[in-house]
Amino acid sequence: MRNTKLLLHICCAPCATGVIKKLKSDGSIYISGIYYNPNIHPSQEHQERKVSVDLLSNDENIDVLYDDTLMVDYWKENLKGEKVNRCDFCYTLRIEQLAKTAKEMGYDAFTTTLLVSPWQNHEKIQIIGQEMQKKYDIDFMYQDFRPFYREGKNLAYHRGYYLQKYCGCIFSYEESDHKKKPIYTF
Ligand code: SF4
Repeated sequence: MRNTKLLLHICCAPCATGVIKKLKSDGSIYISGIYYNPNIHPSQEHQERKVSVDLLSNDENIDVLYDDTLMVDYWKENLKGEKVNRCDFCYTLRIEQLAKTAKEMGYDAFTTTLLVSPWQNHEKIQIIGQEMQKKYDIDFMYQDFRPFYREGKNLAYHRGYYLQKYCGCIFSYEESDHKKKPIYTF
């Protein structure tokens, strides 16, 4: 039986660590990654996370596609206000690009490391994944990866990956404690 070719959306190296460990233990899955996170602000933060994804790619021996698109102006102009609206947009943007790329590149299935995080709206991510499965006619490999979150984070810490302090977008940065102790100069 041939391995399932899976395209994995990677939001960050710490989340991907637990997910990849779980997927590898399932066997029969050939994993490639895609780092597409236009939500992240500022660009230094995007770069810090990307560097760790590159380390993870070497450590796990998986290929990763990188897309450096950043959309802070869109976030500022259109997504102020209700967190639920901006997060739904953010999930849809990334999962749609994932499904579309997976289909175009001949993968068998797609999934996302967003499904490992206890801080994200897991049910909404699952629904969007199912919608994109239908829209692009490609399997969404849904799993509840949350039980592997802590183990993945610990492993990421020991490997020296960058551990981010906020979700990613400009609003999540402003809502975090780091607004009071800036880590970047904009
Ligand atoms: S809080 Fe996180 S999931 Fe929501 S819009 Fe911002 S970066 Fe995206």
